[in-house]
Amino acid sequence: MTESAACPNRRPVIVVGAGPVGLSAALALRALGRPVTVMEAGEQDRLRPGSRAIFVHRATLEILDRSHPGLAHDLAAQGLLWHTKRTFYAGREVFSRSYTPPPPGELPHFSSLPQVETERLLLQACKEAGVEFAWNQEVATAATSGDGVLLATTGGTRWHADYVIAADGARSAVRDSLGIPLQGSRSDGWYVVVDAEEDPGDPLPVERIFHYAHPAVDGRNVLLVPFAGGWRVDLQLHDDDDPEELSTGEGLRGWLRAVLPAPYAERVTWSSTYRFLQVIAEDFADEHRRVLLAGEAAHLFAPFGARGMNSGVPDAEAAANAVHLAMSASGPARAEAAVTEYALSRRRSAVYNCDAAGAALTHLRPGPEERARLESAAENAERDPSMGHWLDIAPYGPREAAPGNTIYKY
Ligand SMILES: Cc1cc2nc3c(=O)[nH]c(=O)nc-3n(C[C@H](O)[C@H](O)[C@H](O)COP(=O)(O)OP(=O)(O)OC[C@H]3O[C@@H](n4cnc5c(N)ncnc54)[C@H](O)[C@@H]3O)c2cc1C
Repeated sequence: MTESAACPNRRPVIVVGAGPVGLSAALALRALGRPVTVMEAGEQDRLRPGSRAIFVHRATLEILDRSHPGLAHDLAAQGLLWHTKRTFYAGREVFSRSYTPPPPGELPHFSSLPQVETERLLLQACKEAGVEFAWNQEVATAATSGDGVLLATTGGTRWHADYVIAADGARSAVRDSLGIPLQGSRSDGWYVVVDAEEDPGDPLPVERIFHYAHPAVDGRNVLLVPFAGGWRVDLQLHDDDDPEELSTGEGLRGWLRAVLPAPYAERVTWSSTYRFLQVIAEDFADEHRRVLLAGEAAHLFAPFGARGMNSGVPDAEAAANAVHLAMSASGPARAEAAVTEYALSRRRSAVYNCDAAGAALTHLRPGPEERARLESAAENAERDPSMGHWLDIAPYGPREAAPGNTIYKY
């Protein structure tokens, strides 16, 4: 008997990583009737910090609802829906639009809630669907052959699977171990990202606000987004700013008091500094077509346009479908073709999303020509509403859906 056949940790399909993408993949596999085990480095009751993927697109909600009917409405009920968006340029409003809420019972265009809440609901759904979890199992290495995958944890435990969906995030040990390189670049500028808890004594209008060249913070760009329970504030730093100084203590409170009412400066629950990576794995599957990379294990984008989790969930569904097809295929060639189709199609989407997030980054860090265009648009926005509209949408990149994705414009 081979080691793999005798191994007590042998499973048909293993998903590595219990982030939103791994949990979505596990749910999709259960919906297809496949048994699935999720291996996660962290503990079961861990608390992951930061609001992160607050903007959950309707298309993402619909995918999750296909795997677990009712989940989309649960996510919508936990989330918040802002109906007004406003854009300012150097203190002056250049665009504003309000929308009517969807009729009762209909899914909203998006749900705005902290990622930790999305993960909580996904985990609950996975447990209801019979997903097996192996916590405290940090994968150190992955090796593949035509027969399957051998995973070894940092604690020395070995697991075998016919197929693995690697959703172990940006620093994916599975991807590294398989020698699949990331290709792309890193943005030059720094951003400070802050969560501030809603002040019940001074609730603010539920509006998404983008402020170009905010006069109260020395002309830096500021994005304010409400989510269930709080506000997310992104500050785009000047090239000579010290990210550390503006993301902690009085440095942080000082600028926050300038863009939100003063009590919010005392209600910070998380802050972080970022320079965004724009990278894509060279291949979304290993050479034997047994490991499928999904989510941030496969691609990283700047967050403008909310393309991270919102593209990771379609990866998850497509990876689950590909594994299901491969496992029911009539022979190895068809099985490999199903995985190759996954790798090619989701990589095409990632390339599109990376370019789109890159366009947003370029817009936010304009050269002299682009800056002149921005200033002219701001000047003419009152007379020509299309200018204001452009200023409003450009920080998030093109609005068309990536190939293979649905998008609902809002
Ligand atoms: C500031 C910020 C704002 C964002 N805003 C948005 C937004 O509005 N909308 C949006 O769609 N996206 C947004 N994102 C991106 C979003 O947070 C990520 O795309 C999402 O978390 C990726 O999910 P994932 O499951 O691929 O990876 P992760 O969330 O990183 O999950 C990976 C999981 O794998 C586990 N793991 C890691 N290594 C191992 C290992 N070796 N073995 C076992 N387990 C392992 C980790 O513990 C973790 O649980 C934002 C990100 C940031 C930083």
